[in-house]
Amino acid sequence: MHNLKKVDEWIEDHRNEITNFCCKLIEYKSITGFEEEVQKNFLFPFIEKELDFEYKELYYASSKERRPNIICFSKGEKNGLLLNGHVDVVDVPENQLSRWQSNPWSPIIKDKKIFGRGASDMKGGITCMLWAIKALQSIGWRPKNLGLELVVGEEHMDHNIGTTAATKRLLDNGCKFDFCLSLEPTNCEIHVESCGTFDFEVIVEGKETHTANRNVMLYPQRLGIPCGDEVGVDAISKIIDIVRVLQKLERETVINLRNQVIGVGGLPVPLDLQGLGAAFTINVSFIEGGSYIASVAGNAKITCQCYYPPQIGYEETKKLILETIESYSKTDSWLKNHPPQLTFAKRFHWPPYQTDIGHPAVKILAQVHEKVTRKKVIFSGNKGVNDLTFLQKLGISGVTYGPGNIFMNIHGPNEYIPIDQLVEGTKILAHFLTTYCG
Ligand SMILES: [Zn+2]
Repeated sequence: MHNLKKVDEWIEDHRNEITNFCCKLIEYKSITGFEEEVQKNFLFPFIEKELDFEYKELYYASSKERRPNIICFSKGEKNGLLLNGHVDVVDVPENQLSRWQSNPWSPIIKDKKIFGRGASDMKGGITCMLWAIKALQSIGWRPKNLGLELVVGEEHMDHNIGTTAATKRLLDNGCKFDFCLSLEPTNCEIHVESCGTFDFEVIVEGKETHTANRNVMLYPQRLGIPCGDEVGVDAISKIIDIVRVLQKLERETVINLRNQVIGVGGLPVPLDLQGLGAAFTINVSFIEGGSYIASVAGNAKITCQCYYPPQIGYEETKKLILETIESYSKTDSWLKNHPPQLTFAKRFHWPPYQTDIGHPAVKILAQVHEKVTRKKVIFSGNKGVNDLTFLQKLGISGVTYGPGNIFMNIHGPNEYIPIDQLVEGTKILAHFLTTYCG
């Protein structure tokens, strides 16, 4: 039996060191594509010096890019656990700087919170991982059957040189993992599944005519004067109708959805931070159309982003959108002969992940959470997407669970993490490691 009381005390005693470490980590401007410096000059040296893994490597998955992952492991008999974290962060554009109360790359501490880019997403989570292992070493614990990967490129779905490549490297080295924990910011709710997301575009073709002809385009005329579609068709009006049809699909799908965790408020405690109805959404991100001020628009296009839950799936979601637009078009005299053109996933498709809520590791994590926080654990779904999808594709199930949360200004100005959550997250993870990995 490990002396976890001592570990908790050690973590409390090192509150300042943990905080300083997180601040230092934020100072490295590791925006996606520029992760080498933080990996090579800060994280890897720390791990080499402080953590007791059997194997440690700065792993460049692509010879063309200076974007190394860090992988470490120690083998053992018991359950294999993989800890995953991404070191890349979202950039802060010039025009957003004025909305920050401080420099995003030079963190400040205010009201017991650390403010800086990546504080919540997910340099806080990475800090917990490394310091939980370090804390356990203070009582003589050595990692066994534990893998750790600090990867590049999560924010842009560069998993082929990030998570997927790093995990394959671990598996090629003979590691076996029964479970993965990614310390993305979930407010320490256990996220057993996520939504998937993709883009799609709808193009509607109309018929250009002089704007002075709008009257004959819209209203019946006496015999002999052309009118309606004979004269012109306003593609922008047509696409607005399609937007309304998609909005109806969005509401009807979500209200008829029955899901244990996503978009319902949390299980068994309905107090998650995802918000209700998070499972199926269609956002019109761009609307474009027309070419000249004095012409009725002859073309229009919407570009949308859709989130869908694993229970509906990608193919079914595409079918829903396609059939909705098709059946609406049949009721429109122009569109039935000029059907809208749909293209799916031109930019991206990030599939969801889903893990059994009854997985032994999930149960242990829940017990440990309740023991350390003395609060009932909340199971929920992740309405965003993350690298667990790609771990699941490699046969490793897992959950996201970490300090920080989506309302702590992730990807926006004044991102922060409360220091108490950082410290508590470190304790919970330490308890979990000793219980699960032995
Ligand atoms: Zn993240």
